[in-house]
Amino acid sequence: MRYSLSTFAPDFAKEMADVISLFFGAVERVDYDAELLCVHADNLDGARRTSMVSVSGIATGEASVTGDIGVDALRDKRLHKRQVKMALYQALKQATGTHPPWGSLTGIRPTRLVYALMDQGKSLEDACLQTQRTFDLLPAKTRLLHDIVSTQQALVQPKEKDVDLYIGIPFCVTRCRYCSFISARVGNGNMLAPYTDALLHEMDRTRDLIAREGLTIRAFYMGGGTPTALPPELLDRILTKAQPWTDAALEATVEAGRPDSVTREQLRVLRDHGIQRISINPQTMHDQTLAIIGRAHTRAQTESAYALARQMGFDRINMDLIAGLPGETMPMFLETLAWARGLAPENLTVHTLSVKRSSDMHRWADNLPDGEMVAAMVDAAAAAASDMGMATYYLYRQKHMAGNLENVGYAQPGTACLYNVDTMEDTVSILAMGAGGISKRVWPDRVFIKRAPNVKEIAHYTARVDEMADRKDGLWREEKPGYSS
Ligand code: SF4
Repeated sequence: MRYSLSTFAPDFAKEMADVISLFFGAVERVDYDAELLCVHADNLDGARRTSMVSVSGIATGEASVTGDIGVDALRDKRLHKRQVKMALYQALKQATGTHPPWGSLTGIRPTRLVYALMDQGKSLEDACLQTQRTFDLLPAKTRLLHDIVSTQQALVQPKEKDVDLYIGIPFCVTRCRYCSFISARVGNGNMLAPYTDALLHEMDRTRDLIAREGLTIRAFYMGGGTPTALPPELLDRILTKAQPWTDAALEATVEAGRPDSVTREQLRVLRDHGIQRISINPQTMHDQTLAIIGRAHTRAQTESAYALARQMGFDRINMDLIAGLPGETMPMFLETLAWARGLAPENLTVHTLSVKRSSDMHRWADNLPDGEMVAAMVDAAAAAASDMGMATYYLYRQKHMAGNLENVGYAQPGTACLYNVDTMEDTVSILAMGAGGISKRVWPDRVFIKRAPNVKEIAHYTARVDEMADRKDGLWREEKPGYSS
């Protein structure tokens, strides 16, 4: 089977836009005639550009077909789509002279491809090499996949009845300009108590579901937003109700993301309820960058928050950094890495700036480092993490990331966050509570997965919390299609 650009069906428009965005940033619109692609895109530097790319004569792809064509319509369509994407990728690679680090891969979880091949009996090495060949990955990314999967294989593996619990607190001290999460400013606090009441009710309903289904708790994770933006008494009410879960879980994490939300009272509440792992996220050590990105805290506040947490006995702290922040140069990023090393976090998560339409950054023509520099920053972070004795343990990609790179989690031996791995690899069901939480049921063979999202809007959530709990109940009452009890 041979396809060319002229075989692009309207059905594949989204996939085509994904491939084009690997080369041009966020695609606004694509016009096509037989020889020319005209791409209207929002580049990561905030500028809107129109690029004309000649794809005449080079945009064809060869399908490697096993089995009969025309027997399974769904399979044919999938094959067609893959080949059209590959044809377009090859054309753009030639036309632009660019080799995206993750090749033609547009998905967010590349490790899943490796696992799928291993499920078919391939060794880790062979699965990685086949993924590299199929998607044209750079060898460094293949090595990254290999290292991550091998770290994950050494972790405690989930049991059949295991479930992870997620609680979302959609409030922050102030809103960061790059934020695309569901997060409201704590403000005058009017919404906090009604939200907490609704959440406690959903936790009761979830407790009943867990008992009815005989589920066992594997990991507990409270994120958002910034849970420590809540007043200590509300945080205490939530964690008191969650205590049986945090006691039973293999790990319990609470994000204390914004250093300006970390107080002795908050940390005491976390410690008193057995929270072992927290996240304190500076993103950068440079105060001028923090001001630009709207994080109303300073480097000094991060240093105080780490000192306080250490003094109060927290020995598993994650630190988030961002590569590619506006105005940051390579020497500035290296300074941040050296400074981070001094704070000695047990986990380090290095994000690559992703400018989403829902974030404020998108509207500002900021001075963002180019993709090449961001790639060098990501490499420097990997080297720094290795110097700190850490190994990579999970990764995910987002759309519109600077340099088409990835977010990577590093951990000291024995400190990898199970919840992060479980969510990325879809290995464990998740019961999520709170606005914007997405529950996920993973049937034992991991092939069939279904989600039940909670509403995102805080006022809707508090008004409709029983509907959210009913939705989760319904999901756990469902049988896998094709199964009978
Ligand atoms: S701390 Fe996180 S969730 Fe809160 S506003 Fe900033 S990026 Fe968004």
